[in-house]
Amino acid sequence: MPVLVMKFGGTSVATLDRIKRAAKRVGVEVAKGYDVIVIVSAMSGKTNELVGWVNETSPLYDAREYDAVVSSGENVTAGLMALTMQEMDVPARSWQGWQVPLKTTSAHGAARIEEIPPDNINAKFGEGMRVAVVAGFQGVSPEGRITTLGRGGSDTTAVAFAAAFDAERCDIYTDVDGVYTTDPRVAPKARKLEKIAFEEMLELASLGAKVLQTRSVELAMRYNVRLRVLSSFEEQSDNAGTLVCAEEEIVENNVVSGVAYSRDEAKMTLISVADRPGIAANIFTALSEGGVLVDMIVQNISEEGRTDMTFSCPTDQVARAEAAMAKAKEDGIVNFAELIADVEVAKVSVVGIGMRSHTGVAAKMFQCLSADGINIKVITTSEIKISVLIERKYMELAVQALHDAFELDKAA
Ligand code: ADP
Ligand code: ASP
Ligand code: MG
Repeated sequence: MPVLVMKFGGTSVATLDRIKRAAKRVGVEVAKGYDVIVIVSAMSGKTNELVGWVNETSPLYDAREYDAVVSSGENVTAGLMALTMQEMDVPARSWQGWQVPLKTTSAHGAARIEEIPPDNINAKFGEGMRVAVVAGFQGVSPEGRITTLGRGGSDTTAVAFAAAFDAERCDIYTDVDGVYTTDPRVAPKARKLEKIAFEEMLELASLGAKVLQTRSVELAMRYNVRLRVLSSFEEQSDNAGTLVCAEEEIVENNVVSGVAYSRDEAKMTLISVADRPGIAANIFTALSEGGVLVDMIVQNISEEGRTDMTFSCPTDQVARAEAAMAKAKEDGIVNFAELIADVEVAKVSVVGIGMRSHTGVAAKMFQCLSADGINIKVITTSEIKISVLIERKYMELAVQALHDAFELDKAA
């Protein structure tokens, strides 16, 4: 029988009532003849609560135990969803990551999926099970310990299952009815897209649009999974939501197709480091060994052989960055006067494949921000995106102003 993957995010399984509504949707697809793999998130708010407990217990926690704790939210919803399906007389069984087994690397907290052998689940489908409910976000390391895939990782679980089972489609049910030109909660004028290219979605996701986890889009692109984002609160239909697909399938083409933001950024500046070969290598090796995910990097002008080096990282990694640099200083690897952390910044980015062939996008973006009196702290660009760090209090304003300036409320 053809296989369909249906993923339900936190708000879609937040209460027993919502689980029932989600289960009804699954029932409709089963009735059409699909074997369904349902991927569930934890109830909304649950994972945050678990992460909070870990941080409170142990600020520089052992990542293996972090995973043991934060993966548990999905175990509850998987079991409840299987029970709900059974109550509807649909043969269903729940699976935790290790039972499948969903094999990952041992990078706890941000593990990557290595393999999903389909045999166990297929054997059950062969015996008449119609719905396999799989706990999202979790897997098992080569050492046999529970891992998690990074926040938002159930999206990646879903796409990986769609690839492993050659599913007809991977439907991501969430609390918005598709992918918008920007977060509709920040810019009310945001417009829903019928389709979006893998590459644009990849940039938007990696720049902060949390509607899909970045890695899920990468996998969908690599394995050509038909990926759809839709609401679990609206009427069920075969062409609802937004299709994430190859560039060639898209007719509409604005130069800029979306605006993304990331609220939790920190701007870190090392004051007075020696300006000589090897220093950048030493700084960023120390940060990487300290487990810090560095994003933007700027080296400032040099005076008398000393320079300032600025980088950005997520706010929850500031303590790690400070610890790593203090150690590097102590070990005599990097000499600097001071490390200044500015945690009141946000990143705002514009994304569009059209930028490849159009000039003037950066100029327009910077003019738009300056017209609102917003100061730009750091800039980075790539082929299809421009990102700036700004003061966090201007983030919403910047997103709305850029959405207006690039006329994203109008289709091309
Ligand atoms: P789930 O719990 O279903 O995985 P998430 O909260 O992870 O849901 O993702 C959905 C949220 O992503 C939406 O509620 C919306 O606020 C946010 N979002 C950010 N950018 C976008 C965008 N461009 N289009 C749609 N939603 C977006
Ligand atoms: N529950 C996990 C999280 O909140 C995974 C997910 O929902 O995708 O990050
Ligand atoms: Mg999510």
